[in-house]
Amino acid sequence: MAIIITDECINCGACEPECPNTAIYEGADDWRYKDGTSLEGTVVLTNGTEVDADEAQEPISDELYYIVPDKCTECKGFHDEPQCAAVCPVDCCVPDEDHVETEEQLLAKQRFMHPED
Ligand code: SF4
Ligand code: SF4
Repeated sequence: MAIIITDECINCGACEPECPNTAIYEGADDWRYKDGTSLEGTVVLTNGTEVDADEAQEPISDELYYIVPDKCTECKGFHDEPQCAAVCPVDCCVPDEDHVETEEQLLAKQRFMHPED
């Protein structure tokens, strides 16, 4: 499953540069599928949804750092453990029960975003 940042976040910013999928954004910042991935133009996600990878998407939080579930792979394919959770000083990066995925699904997402790795 994806990781979610809870409202205990203190906006320290430590997690953001650690994410291998660029799935973490500062509150109120727009996000894009193409940021930090190989995606560009119109793409069909592994869940079948068609999106424009270049298009700016609405922030998920206006106040706190947030994680884009479609881009988070729990660090599968890159690291043994979620890097955001490893560096967060207040342990507010936790499993997102609303976005449960199997290891195979997470690895498929990782390969989809980074086919050249
Ligand atoms: S678990 Fe890994 S991929 Fe997901 S947001 Fe945290 S650092 Fe990024
Ligand atoms: S490391 Fe933790 S406290 Fe710092 S911005 Fe990320 S989620 Fe928030």
